[in-house]
Amino acid sequence: MSNGKLADRAMKVAFIGSECYPFIKTGGLGDVMYALPRALLREGCEVRVIMPCYRCIPDRFKERMVWRGSFMMDLTQDGRTYHVGVMESVLDGVTYDFIDNREFFDWGNPYTGLWEDIPKYCYFSKAALAALNFMDWIPDVIHCHDWQAALVPVYLRTLFSVTPVGAARSVLTIHNLRFQGICSIEHLKYWTGLPDYLFDYAVFKVNDREANMFKGGLAYADRITTVSDTYAGEIQTDFYGEGLNSHLSYHREKLKGIVNGIDIDIWNSRTDKLLHAAYGEENALQAKKLNKKALQERLGLAVDEDKFVVGLISRLTDQKGLDLINTIFTEMMDERIQVVILGTGDPRYEDAFRYYESAYKGQVCAYIKYDESLAHQIYAGADALLVPSLFEPCGLTQLIAMRYGTIPIVRETGGLKDTVEPYNEYTGEGNGFTFDRYRADLLLDAVRRAEWLYFEDRGRWDAIVLRDMEKDVSWEHSADLYLKLYGELKG
Ligand code: ADP
Repeated sequence: MSNGKLADRAMKVAFIGSECYPFIKTGGLGDVMYALPRALLREGCEVRVIMPCYRCIPDRFKERMVWRGSFMMDLTQDGRTYHVGVMESVLDGVTYDFIDNREFFDWGNPYTGLWEDIPKYCYFSKAALAALNFMDWIPDVIHCHDWQAALVPVYLRTLFSVTPVGAARSVLTIHNLRFQGICSIEHLKYWTGLPDYLFDYAVFKVNDREANMFKGGLAYADRITTVSDTYAGEIQTDFYGEGLNSHLSYHREKLKGIVNGIDIDIWNSRTDKLLHAAYGEENALQAKKLNKKALQERLGLAVDEDKFVVGLISRLTDQKGLDLINTIFTEMMDERIQVVILGTGDPRYEDAFRYYESAYKGQVCAYIKYDESLAHQIYAGADALLVPSLFEPCGLTQLIAMRYGTIPIVRETGGLKDTVEPYNEYTGEGNGFTFDRYRADLLLDAVRRAEWLYFEDRGRWDAIVLRDMEKDVSWEHSADLYLKLYGELKG
C-alpha cells in the first residue's frame, strides 16, 4: 500500500481538463489526462474525468456515451443561462463525464481561437463544478489542468463555496505556461459572471485592460503542480515565466514539480500492434532494424538499415527548438543520415521541412500531419529522436523514445533535463545526448556525438538502447507523489 493511500475509504478525485486521449488529444495534456487517472485507479482511488463533449470526438466514442441528465446554469454577468448536458462513458474503470453544449463545443479541433475559446472554457469550468453537484459526486480533490480549467479553483472558492462541491480541495497543474487565457477585463467579467473584487492584481488583473485566467487559478488553487522539478524552478524566472514569474514566486510555497510518466500499456513495444515487428529487450536490436526498413519503405526513403535515422515528432512551434534545427539542417545532412519529421503547426516550419524533403529526396521525409500510427512506427524505427526545445515543461516524446530504444537528443531544459541523463563517454553511462544553451552549434555537436557513437562504437550505442528500454518511465512513482499531495490536502 502506498503512503498516500487512505485507510478508511478510497480517495475521490475529479480531473477537469480540455482534452483526454483517446477521445481528443492535441499534445501531452491529452496523454496525462488519460494515463494519470488510470494510475490513480490502480492505487485504489475513485476517479472521474470531466471534459467537454466536442463535436470532433469520433462517433465510435459518442455511440458508447450514456445520458446522465441535463440542467440549466447561469453564467454571464447579465445572467444568461445555458444548457448543461452530462454524457457519461466508463473506460477501464475510469468514469468520463462529457459536458455537452452545442453552442460552445460544436466548433474547433477542439481549440478555435482565444476569442471563442475564452467563453467556451469559462462555461466549461463552471459547468464541470455544477455537474459534480448535479451528479451528487463530491470529490476530495479536484485536479484541474492548464488555463482552460484554471477558473475551477476560483469558482470553487467563490460562487460554489457554499454548495456541496465547495468542500473539495483543488490542485492546478501547469502543463504549459505559454498559454494562459488572457483577454480584456470586460470580456472575462462578462463571461465568468465573477464579482469585481477578483479583477485585482492579486487574482486576474494583468494591467489596466487585461485579465488572465491562469493567473487567477494559480492564486486560488490550494496547490499548484507542474510537470517537472526543473520547470517548477524555471517558471519563477523571467525567461521561462511568461510574465507570471513573480506571481508564481509569490505562490511558491504551494508549487511543486512532479514529472510525468507515460502509459506503458499503450507505449509497449512488445504488444504494439502498429509496429511492423514488435519487440522486447531480448530482440530489440534486430527488430529495430526491421522497423527501420518498414519505416523507410512507408515514407519513400532509401531502404538501408545502416542509415542513422533521426526522428522528430512534435507540434511545429517555436517552443520545440525548430529554429535550431533549421539553422543546422544543411550542415547536419551527410550521406549517412536520414531525417523523419512528423508534425503540424506553424506554416513557416511546415514549409521549411517540406522544402528539405524536396531538396533531400529519399533522405528526408516531412509528414505534415497528425498521425498516431506513424508516431509509433517512428519511435520504433528511428535510431535517435530530436527534442531541442527552447522550453519543455516535461516532454513525453523523449520518454516514449527511450521506452522504444530510440536515443533522445535533447536540450537540458525542464523535464528533458530531469529525464534524460547525459551520455558520459568515459563511463558509458547515460540515456541520451544533451546540450545546455539554446545554440544551434551545440545541437549540431550533440547530433554529431550521437552519430559518431552509432557508427564508431556500436556496442556502446546498443548498450544505451537497452538501458533506455529498461528505464522506469511509467506513472507509478509520480502517481504516488500525486496521491501523497492529495492526502496532505485532505488532512
Ligand atoms: P506537447 O504537449 O508540448 O505537444 P509532449 O512531448 O508533452 O509535447 O507530447 C506530445 C505528444 O503528442 C506525444 O504523445 C507525441 O507522440 C504526440 N504527437 C505530437 N505530434 C504528433 C503528430 N503529428 N502525430 C502523432 N502524434 C503526435
